[in-house]
Amino acid sequence: MAHDKITLADRVLQVPPSPTLAVNAKAKALKAAGADILNFSVGEPDFDTPAHVCEAGKKAIDEGHTRYTAVPGIPELREAVCNRFREDHGWEYAPEQIQVCCGGKHGLYNIFQAILNPGDEVLVPAPYWVSYPPMVQLAGGVPVEVPLDEQMDFDLNPETLAGHATGRTRAIFLNSPSNPTGSVFSERALRAVAEMALEHNWLIVSDDIYETITYGGDRLPHILDVEPAVKDQTIVLNGVSKSFAMTGWRIGYSAGPEYIIKAMNKIQSQSTSNPCAPSQYAALAALTGPQDFPGMMRDAFVERRDFFVRDLESIEGVTCVNPRGAFYVFPNFSAYYGRSFGGRKIEGSVAMADYFLDEARVASVPGAAFGADDFVRFSFATSMEVIREGMERIKAALAALE
Ligand SMILES: *Cc1c(COP(=O)(O)O)cnc(C)c1O
Repeated sequence: MAHDKITLADRVLQVPPSPTLAVNAKAKALKAAGADILNFSVGEPDFDTPAHVCEAGKKAIDEGHTRYTAVPGIPELREAVCNRFREDHGWEYAPEQIQVCCGGKHGLYNIFQAILNPGDEVLVPAPYWVSYPPMVQLAGGVPVEVPLDEQMDFDLNPETLAGHATGRTRAIFLNSPSNPTGSVFSERALRAVAEMALEHNWLIVSDDIYETITYGGDRLPHILDVEPAVKDQTIVLNGVSKSFAMTGWRIGYSAGPEYIIKAMNKIQSQSTSNPCAPSQYAALAALTGPQDFPGMMRDAFVERRDFFVRDLESIEGVTCVNPRGAFYVFPNFSAYYGRSFGGRKIEGSVAMADYFLDEARVASVPGAAFGADDFVRFSFATSMEVIREGMERIKAALAALE
């Protein structure tokens, strides 16, 4: 094999390869070869984008909205984002405090490019969304994991948080409801974050992408409501990917202090220029039209969640926190680690997910991808039939381990 001639950047080399890649590739290959794979690995709603939103996207193309737009997004959309924040939460933002970007993920990327210097630390409650640590690393920062305890329903413990803060801490991620756990941070936890952030001038990055997909009816605590004083040092990140089943349209948005949004606009202007023009008009229709779509999805998800959690918890040795939002279950299979099948020992979540794929024809995501090796993530953004069949297969596979 020829040697690679070009030296790659250190920042790329320090990002570890994704633990999900191998399992994903194998699931795809098996499926392509005709295997009957039940897929629980997908991180998007199994609903189509609402028709009126698709129509708005098509109309935008027909009307010639096919050129560059303003860097932070079209003014109408930024205005609509401000109105949503006001109506849904009572938060006041001016359009200059909004950046529309190419999906929520891109918004987070812009934030860290705008605020981090080499060696700056960012607190990442773990289990975390896969992309958080690499985003920090690619901006020259150091992700610092703050472990969350399954026994506490993955709430953030103020003492643990304090134990991981240092003089180099610059920011903290909040993701409530969380991907992968579905857990929600308590008011007590958020108050502790707010107090520490105020004292040490941390930026709070609140990833609210699942805020409309919650169960139980209660309004979730939000750090901006728990302690409004942190608004000057908080970026709220949201988007239409999950709430309106628009993952492929690539529209997300951030709201925060104008000077930080301006810095993020500088990054965006020199990288993507602006988010996709027709997609912005589709997102405008989503945010200004009827708001019942997320509730309709939630009503479909709740039955699946209830079944999934109950069935998982009925398996000996398996525990599963009941998700209060999002569309994932995150059961703990560590009681099965160390057991074997046909001479093959299950050492951790990657081996477990691989075993589920081989023996149960079930695709899942190993917890190692989220910094939590005791767990495996299953998405319930799929039909009840698939969930029922998948659970039968999982139970059989677990029973076959010795
Ligand atoms: C899906 C997701 C996002 C945003 O995804 P985009 O498709 O980039 O809009 C952000 N945070 C979490 C935790 C997610 O699961």
